[in-house]
Amino acid sequence: MLQPPHQPLPFAAVPAQRTPAREDDAGPWHSDAACRRDEAGLFFAPSKEPTAARLAREEAAKRVCARCPVMVECQEHALMQPEPYGVWGGLTAAERRVALARRRRRDIELTAAATTAEHIAAAG
Ligand code: SF4
Repeated sequence: MLQPPHQPLPFAAVPAQRTPAREDDAGPWHSDAACRRDEAGLFFAPSKEPTAARLAREEAAKRVCARCPVMVECQEHALMQPEPYGVWGGLTAAERRVALARRRRRDIELTAAATTAEHIAAAG
């Protein structure tokens, strides 16, 4: 897993301690991340976070993502890894799971359509 722009806090209840992004591992998008200084710890849940607090924190993180110049790259990274925790590219972990399921379904449908087209072409 790459060094994230924001530090994961899956088991901690303290604000994130940010470290410089590693461009060599993550690509140039990493250094432009709007969340490089996540002093508020918006992007990962502290342990035992109440639902209302989680929803408010995730919305605040998404507002940061919405003005981030590398949101598309970040989102694609998080989908391809896939990153299991935190807000990445404006999506929560649950939203990424839905996006990945849609992508897999679309890929299956495209493959099936291509196979059908090949059979029709072969039949002449
Ligand atoms: S899109 Fe969000 S999570 Fe990704 S680098 Fe930008 S601010 Fe950070």
